[in-house]
Amino acid sequence: MSEQTPAGPGRRGPLTDGPPDPEHDSTAAYALDRSYVAGLTRRVVSSTGETVPVASPIGGTPLAHLPQSSPADVAEAFARARRSQAGWAATSLDQRAAALLRLHDLVLDRQEELIDLVVWESGKARKDAYLEVAHVALTARYYARTAHEHLDSRRVGGMFPVLTRAEVHRVPKGVVGIISPWNYPLTMALCDGIPALLAGNAVVAKPDAQTMLTALLAAQLLEEAGIPADAWQVVAGPGPEVGGAIVAHADYVCFTGSTATGRLIAQGCAERLIGCSLELGGKNPMLVLRDADVHRAAEGAVRAVFSNAGQLCVSMERLYVADQVYDRFVDAFVSRTQALTLGASQDWSVDMGSLISQAQLDTVTAHVEDAVAKGARVLTGGRHRPDLGPFVFEPTILEGVSADMTCFGQETFGPVVSLYRFHSEDEAVERANDGGYGLNASVWTRDGTRGRAIARRIRCGTVNVNEAYGATFGSLGAPMGGMRESGMGRRQGAEGIHRYTEAQSVATQRLVPIAPMFGMSEETNAKVLTASLRLLDKLGRA
Ligand code: NAD
Repeated sequence: MSEQTPAGPGRRGPLTDGPPDPEHDSTAAYALDRSYVAGLTRRVVSSTGETVPVASPIGGTPLAHLPQSSPADVAEAFARARRSQAGWAATSLDQRAAALLRLHDLVLDRQEELIDLVVWESGKARKDAYLEVAHVALTARYYARTAHEHLDSRRVGGMFPVLTRAEVHRVPKGVVGIISPWNYPLTMALCDGIPALLAGNAVVAKPDAQTMLTALLAAQLLEEAGIPADAWQVVAGPGPEVGGAIVAHADYVCFTGSTATGRLIAQGCAERLIGCSLELGGKNPMLVLRDADVHRAAEGAVRAVFSNAGQLCVSMERLYVADQVYDRFVDAFVSRTQALTLGASQDWSVDMGSLISQAQLDTVTAHVEDAVAKGARVLTGGRHRPDLGPFVFEPTILEGVSADMTCFGQETFGPVVSLYRFHSEDEAVERANDGGYGLNASVWTRDGTRGRAIARRIRCGTVNVNEAYGATFGSLGAPMGGMRESGMGRRQGAEGIHRYTEAQSVATQRLVPIAPMFGMSEETNAKVLTASLRLLDKLGRA
């Protein structure tokens, strides 16, 4: 169970509490209380003695020196997790579900601390960080309350009624490796692991290097909720090295990140014949139909495109608008976008926060510059805003984007959207289905039935009608994941937990064997069996 909870992160202003650390740059004004950071970083399984400095996208303020794990440390993390897993799997399902409900309460109670840390590490707007808290709470509650529905052993029809009793059990895979990205540090750290734990697995997590502190606080909360400390290990380090070691030891891998890395993970898992789920990139389309409520759609488009500064796998980067409403929609969308408050701070007033890093800023800038150089028009935005924060980029709406421009088909993963007109809904569906990705789509119309019919024709794993992504993402019973190059497998719902289990069938034969009896010949036995198969069919048996 939990040790003493360290003090909070030091709230809103840069603090320099704690003695200077001569090993590191002792002159820097650290954003977080050092003893608080030390309480978190001790959870990293690391014997290398190496650390890397991490700074906040908010003003470049130093945050921590993070211990690094070697491949041997990853092996040690798996050994610890494996020892712990057997005991954890032996606890009752109700005990495990109760721990998740305690986690639900803990994340809600400690939301200020969690949000502070997420914002320091990612530079996102506070409101976007809050949604991570809400999503973790939703996920913990959903799986706790549906534990028996998903995991109880169940009877299925045996070969012969009465004579064959068959049952199916859900057996944990063992130790699950979770490799996660930086864009939703708290959600990505916890939400895929919650069902893995509930199913009786242990976890070794490798969060992205940029958002380790949030992932470490998440591990601390799991322990406080009653999950054995060793059942959730955290390792840190460069993706190819440490992530590769995860694939080498895991019984199952849950990966979230780019399509390019996802392919490598799939190859590594295929080599070891272990399963994996891959939640990958997208170039998500939004369709505004001719009967849409233009103002609601414009407001929705702002959320769809600029939430988390566009660094959201399910956010929209292609916007197809019906001819009949195009001009009105564009006016409303542009003016709402221009009204957004930008910034990089802990303040609730920020509507759109910073990008996380120089690398993200470089990609976004390159996509916009390439489009403009090839003739695209910037309706609003298009500029880096170092006056607001080192990586702040304006929310950007482009028109006249063509297939030769990078942002036409490649994921930008930033606050940039391309607007296109369409003339018929068939054409809109066809263009939405263009390209290799198939993660999320959004359809806006006053006619829900029509919207749902169009949704069924779009080749994406989730489609939201009159919402951008929140309706599917927040409906935990609904599976979430990508078609085509956007992924394999699903999180959420039954699929989101069954991926962490093996189905084991146990059948017991009673009274008579499934073989000739009483000296019967094989030929007679075949006739008896055929007659009984016909009878079972007449009785309507499956
Ligand atoms: P990335 O693939 O570079 O990194 C993701 C994770 O993989 C990180 O932890 C990284 O350290 C690790 N990694 C990198 N190389 C590795 C390797 N060779 N072996 C093992 N692990 C390795 O992704 P990124 O660019 O940091 O994240 C953004 C991408 O993630 C975007 O494409 C976005 O769409 C996608 N994403 C998808 C979802 C989803 O649910 N579908 C959610 C969030 C982000």
